[in-house]
Amino acid sequence: MPLEADDANAVTPYQLPFPKDAQDEIVIPDAISGDERLWVPQAENVSFRPLCLNRSQGYWMNLLRVRKSGVLSRHRHPQPVHGFVLKGRWHYLEHDWEAREGSYVFEPPGETHTLVVPDDVDEMITYFQVNGVMIYVDPWGKVMGYEDVFTKIDMCRNHYTEVGLGEDYVDRFIR
Ligand code: FE
Repeated sequence: MPLEADDANAVTPYQLPFPKDAQDEIVIPDAISGDERLWVPQAENVSFRPLCLNRSQGYWMNLLRVRKSGVLSRHRHPQPVHGFVLKGRWHYLEHDWEAREGSYVFEPPGETHTLVVPDDVDEMITYFQVNGVMIYVDPWGKVMGYEDVFTKIDMCRNHYTEVGLGEDYVDRFIR
């Protein structure tokens, strides 16, 4: 039954406790951080800023940042990816479209692609949800390596230790 606008119940918070096993929310007020320490280097000119590293469901949410002309190595996705471009633009060598600031992209399972940021873009930032695993491959599909939520967590631990935040700093992003 829809509530009337003047119904006091409409602005009454939920009165019951959340499930006792529910996890804590993650709130990051300044996600596109100016604190360079939070950006984890991934390749030349490429870094990521973790937002939610979901080890219980095997996915990760992050901001991918590429400065100058950068390339994210060719990789295959067995599971879907969602992306939203916050700044700059990029394209895949394997597709003829370009993702620009404000663009949403769905990458279906089975995609193999190479992300390129053009020379005239100083900085590209895209919000990505990556599910499962990224399998790095050569141009003919030979497996060269992989990343999953656990390798991302390890990268964060190593980097945050190096920059003095401590390896536990990443725990706030893990669920
Ligand atoms: Fe990808």
